Amino acid sequence: MAYLQLRDMRKSFGETHVIQGVNLEIAKGEFIVFVGPSGCGKSTLLRLIAGLEPVTSGKLLLDGRDITHMPSGKRDLAMVFQSYALYPHMSVYDNMSFALRLAGVPKDEIRTKVEYAARQLNLAQYLERTPKELSGGQRQRVAIGRAIVRAPKVFLFDEPLSNLDAALRGNTRVEIHKLHVALGATTIYVTHDQVEAMTLADRVVVLRDGRIEQVGSPLDLYDHPASQFVAQFIGMPS
Ligand code: ADP
Ligand code: MG
Repeated sequence: MAYLQLRDMRKSFGETHVIQGVNLEIAKGEFIVFVGPSGCGKSTLLRLIAGLEPVTSGKLLLDGRDITHMPSGKRDLAMVFQSYALYPHMSVYDNMSFALRLAGVPKDEIRTKVEYAARQLNLAQYLERTPKELSGGQRQRVAIGRAIVRAPKVFLFDEPLSNLDAALRGNTRVEIHKLHVALGATTIYVTHDQVEAMTLADRVVVLRDGRIEQVGSPLDLYDHPASQFVAQFIGMPS
């Protein structure tokens, strides 16, 4: 049975129909990448899943439960924002523990969770620093750490590497994938970069104007692009 189900999800802003009927079933543990050109609706679809934006119509089910109208904070999903979303005046430890403190988790339990996440992310020796004392890649790992400590059912990433330089982007991409495997997590990852999509994904979802153009493994898309649009997007002549 699918772990996360998107059923005919739609989103309009006034007369602008941004998401136009998306159906998708995601299995537990899958690494799904939403890819497509700027403006095709990737971030909006992710925000609908996260509950940061109400749907216009359609349904969203997680682990058999209808979460379509559940508030974002109760969904058991964690969205990883770009690293500039860190609190600049707080230590790495406080940044990573913030959500747990708000939720009233006991102090020693918080410490155990933050230290575990810090070890997974090679941040153990940086817990007392503030974000400005870290490199861009380390900051992005703190942003990921904030999600890990909550042990969410699903991780949502929106272009997490776009603030990093090319060399760091490659490393961090590998780290994110390792982490996904280590945590056995279900992940939805948004990018406009076809290399990221093809190297990270179990399945790639190609979006075009708010609709799914094709879903498949990187190899499927490479060997059997459903359209000229997909072929061009993944950089293959057809
Ligand atoms: P992507 O992440 O693929 O670049 P977005 O999901 O950010 O695309 O945006 C898709 C379309 O929806 C764009 O045309 C954008 O202008 C529009 N859009 C996004 N959010 C809003 C909003 N809050 N109000 C009006 N239009 C929006
Ligand atoms: Mg976007």
